[in-house]
Amino acid sequence: MDRFAQYIDGAFEEGPAMFESLDPATGAPWAQMPLAGAAEVERAVAAAHRAFLSGPWPAMTASARGKLLHRLADLVQAAAPRLAALETRDTGKIIRETSAQIAYVAEYYRYYAGLADKIEGAHLPIDKPDMEVWLRREPVGVVAAIVPWNSQLFLSAVKIGPALAAGCTLVVKASEDGPAPLLEFARLVQEAGFPPGVVNILTGGPEAGRALTTHPKVAHIAFTGGPETARHIVRASAENLAKTSLELGGKSPFIVFDDADLDSAANAQVSGIFAATGQSCVAGSRLLVQRSVKEAFLARLKAKAEAVAIGAPDQMATEVGPLCTARQRDRIVALIARSVAAGAVIVTGGVAPEGPGFYFPPTILDCTNAPDAPCLREEFFGPILSVVAFDTEDQALVLANDTEYGLASGVFTRSLTRAHRMIRGIRAGIVWVNTYRAVSPIAPFGGHGLSGHGREGGMAAALDYTTVKTVWLRTSDDPIPDPFVMR
Ligand code: NAD
Repeated sequence: MDRFAQYIDGAFEEGPAMFESLDPATGAPWAQMPLAGAAEVERAVAAAHRAFLSGPWPAMTASARGKLLHRLADLVQAAAPRLAALETRDTGKIIRETSAQIAYVAEYYRYYAGLADKIEGAHLPIDKPDMEVWLRREPVGVVAAIVPWNSQLFLSAVKIGPALAAGCTLVVKASEDGPAPLLEFARLVQEAGFPPGVVNILTGGPEAGRALTTHPKVAHIAFTGGPETARHIVRASAENLAKTSLELGGKSPFIVFDDADLDSAANAQVSGIFAATGQSCVAGSRLLVQRSVKEAFLARLKAKAEAVAIGAPDQMATEVGPLCTARQRDRIVALIARSVAAGAVIVTGGVAPEGPGFYFPPTILDCTNAPDAPCLREEFFGPILSVVAFDTEDQALVLANDTEYGLASGVFTRSLTRAHRMIRGIRAGIVWVNTYRAVSPIAPFGGHGLSGHGREGGMAAALDYTTVKTVWLRTSDDPIPDPFVMR
């Protein structure tokens, strides 16, 4: 069995405890992973705090930090095939997706490498004589980055990149499900030449998560995961009063009007819900389709869903692989059963296959006559599409916003004016028009409501890891005249 180590203060070490990671394609253990507890978290945070305050990192110019990030980007690009194979093995995400996604992760590091020396302060035209006042943008301190099991390299890059560009140091906690790619990525951090303690990467479950999020030396908690865990984290941050940014789940509407290019929309919908075996926070999991084209559109989707190549995730021909965990599959099975009991009709799929591995087929549930079905409200995090028909644009908007989440949305129409009305009306952090699932390091990403707060990507994400220092400098050589008059 393979063995992985965690990365604390510039050195690799196995845990005092190790656990077995399962291969989702077979359900069998394939590797031993370290399980960090409170003691490892303590050492990692102490190392990150030391590296933040003293040594080469705080002395480095922003341009030098950028060069290190460029080196890391090159290493990620070169190692992409190896990292992709590991992510596929450990999480079941198909090799077609991991290969493309990890190559693109390098672009995130490149973007933040270029941004490191563009984080500027400001000079204020202050309302007092003989006074210079300016603002310094300074790194906030030690960042705790906590990521879920899907797309760990991507979801950590959107935290590590901007935090390092800003001059912070980090403790990254990989998920206890499928941590292999992040632990391997730590070797690239070391090879790139980041000073010890600047980036620490460990893996563990809720115990490590709690120790990290309550730690008094943690200044910012950047979390991606589910809303329930986010609640724990916000409560934990009452201990250290750390700032939080939360990227949580979604129940994103995918809206198809009768004037849309149905073939194009069907391809986008298939990618929007079945890619990553549906384990995507932006999954377009609620199809709202205009009644006049419902049958035609569903027929296209059903044919495509049934033609999907389900199989071993390490094969390039595979389009849908296994879910990451048996726990995830059990949740999906239970939620489908509750939804069918509430009147949802299975159009295709819906039953887990016999045999090894955590597979679940592409599934479509027609909820047109079951408006209260739980599948319209709760996140599956799997390849399950819930469908509702609408008649008018106003109805589409009401349905789209009838959710506690607010992460992503898609609108398919050829009408420019209608597209604009929908863009204005939909309450979500992202609106894709006649496309879906496009992301870029240049574009902010995030949501509101149960989908969390804060934005990843773009300049704003780097600024989020900074704090403003206001400097007052008196330029007069005269003595201060009156000690009791505030200036
Ligand atoms: P999860 O919330 O169970 O776990 C996420 C991480 O939190 C893991 O590393 C876990 O070990 C850690 N954790 C668990 N308990 C903790 C605690 N008490 N304190 C601190 N950390 C703790 O999520 P998951 O099941 O791994 O991932 C699926 C969820 O992530 C879905 O809801 C999905 O929508 C969401 N997600 C969101 C985005 C986004 O960018 N918005 C992206 C991907 C996934």
